Amino acid sequence: MSLRSTIIRAGLRGIELTRADLWLRPVARGAGVILMFHHVRPFRGDGFAPNRLLEITPEFLDTVITLVRDSGFEIIPIDLLAERLRGSGARPVGGKPFAVLTFDDGYRDNAEYALPVLRRHQAPATFFVTTGYAEGEARLWWLELEAAIRRLDRIALKMADGTARYDTKDAQQKQAAFDSIYWKLRAGDEEALLAHIATLARMADIDGRALTRDLCMRWPELAAVAADPLITIGAHTLTHPMLAKHSDDRARCEIADSRTGIEARLGMPVRHFAYPVGDPGSAGPRDFALAREAGFETAVTTRPGHVFPGHADHLHALPRVSVNGLHQNRAAMRSLLSGVPFMLWNKGRRLNVA
Ligand SMILES: [Zn+2]
Repeated sequence: MSLRSTIIRAGLRGIELTRADLWLRPVARGAGVILMFHHVRPFRGDGFAPNRLLEITPEFLDTVITLVRDSGFEIIPIDLLAERLRGSGARPVGGKPFAVLTFDDGYRDNAEYALPVLRRHQAPATFFVTTGYAEGEARLWWLELEAAIRRLDRIALKMADGTARYDTKDAQQKQAAFDSIYWKLRAGDEEALLAHIATLARMADIDGRALTRDLCMRWPELAAVAADPLITIGAHTLTHPMLAKHSDDRARCEIADSRTGIEARLGMPVRHFAYPVGDPGSAGPRDFALAREAGFETAVTTRPGHVFPGHADHLHALPRVSVNGLHQNRAAMRSLLSGVPFMLWNKGRRLNVA
């Protein structure tokens, strides 16, 4: 477990013990919350699973939806978000906060496992689709890295500052290597990241394209999902780059062309966008402006936080609350819905858009 997730777990536990979620909620809870999910699938066992934070079980999705509604949130389709936010200043005291459910990347398990749960609850949701994944071409590099480290017993990675060597025999060594390589590469240039991970994948005989085709919905599957009135399809770029690291032209093309691409393939308007990776190093003010320029009504980051009335002026930099696979319990969820952890983590900055 990483230091960061240990701190998060301790923080959530502290909030639960002091019941701060109850007594701070009136000031900490926003007009609403946008929840972020990735994979939804049955638990696949313990061991080396460095991307586990990006997956929850169908049972936990069921628990989350129940808890969201029991906590007083109204689950609304993303098409109502902007309007609801503009009107939220005038929301009567005691009026219901809203919740928007979003699933990133277009994984096949979203159709197989999440959609039945959403239907059972009649809960609307948005699937943010990367067109390159639907084509079976773009790379899920963080999963390639996981698959390569799982298979290799030792790794030597030639980087600009010398060769990094890792023993990767047991789960603990593999986790340490993943954390080190992941953060080293993510901090740098994206072309270098993709090249290094391609090298590791080749050494481990991992076929990245097969991984994408195995995990992501293709266009006919997306068309079937999009036909469900509960589901809104949003855009998530062409190839899932960390936009802020690329030129204006590349970023503009990734944002705008993913919209027109999905509209052409599915024959429906696309009004909402999610920034890949979505932290400040991956999506900044330039990218917020490009999403607005491309005609999106809203765009969501992965900056953590609730949504406040002031976000009506920042509809292309909306924060989300990640439903983290490492914390699949009611207490953690109650804390997140209270808004209290974000008040602490964001040091009182409610909008978190700078
Ligand atoms: Zn994504």
